[in-house]
Amino acid sequence: KFITLEGTEGVGKTTNLEFIQSYLRAKGVPLCVTREPGGTPLAEQVRELLLAKRDETVDETAELLLIFAARAQHLNQVIQPALARGEWVLSDRFTDATYAYQGAGRGLSCEVIATLEQLVQGELRPDLTIVLDIDVATGLARASQRAALDRFELEAVEFFEAVRQGYQARVTANPDRYRVVDAGQDLSAVQSDLKLVLDQLLP
Ligand code: C5P
Ligand code: MG
Repeated sequence: KFITLEGTEGVGKTTNLEFIQSYLRAKGVPLCVTREPGGTPLAEQVRELLLAKRDETVDETAELLLIFAARAQHLNQVIQPALARGEWVLSDRFTDATYAYQGAGRGLSCEVIATLEQLVQGELRPDLTIVLDIDVATGLARASQRAALDRFELEAVEFFEAVRQGYQARVTANPDRYRVVDAGQDLSAVQSDLKLVLDQLLP
C-alpha cells in the first residue's frame, strides 16, 4: 500500500506522521517512510534548492519541473522498489501537494500538472491520501512558532487559502482515495481519527 500525508502549513504533519508510522509498525506492517520534495540524496538537494529563500524570483514552471524531477528520482529509487519488496510506503507529501501548491497556490494549470504526473508516474497513484485540514489562520499561527520559515512559509494568507481549497478540490473530485482529518481538534482526537482511517487498510 502507498499512503501519502498532506496538508497546509501548521497542520501537525510531522507529529502525525510519526504517530502513523509507529501505529503501523506496531501492527507489524513493513514500512518505508519517506518525504517529498526529497527522499533520495539527489531529491533532497532539489528540496534545498526549492526551499531556500533567495532574492531572485523563482519561476513557477521552473519550480514545478524541479519538483517533478525530484519525484521521478524518488519514485524510481525509493518508492517503486519498496512497493516491489512488499513494503508499505508512507510519504510526507506527494503529487497532491503539487496540485495544491503549484496548481491552486501558484496558479499553474492542472492539465500541465496532470501531463507531468503521467510522464513521471504512469498509472501509479497513492492508495490512500490523508489530508490534515485546519483553518489557515490557526495553521499559520502554529507554523510561525517554528524557528526558521522556508520560502513557501513566507507566502501570504491568500496563497494558503488557495492551497487549502486546492486540496479540498482534489478530495471532492475523487473522494474514494482521500480521507480528510480535522487537524484543529486536540491531538488525541486527531490521532483517534487517524487510527480509524488506518484500521480500514489493515488486514
Ligand atoms: O515540511 P513541509 O512538507 O512543510 O516542507 C515542504 C515545503 O515545500 C512546504 O513548505 C510546502 O509548501 C512546499 N511544497 C511545495 N510544493 C510541493 C511540495 C512541497 O510548494 N509540491
Ligand atoms: Mg512546511
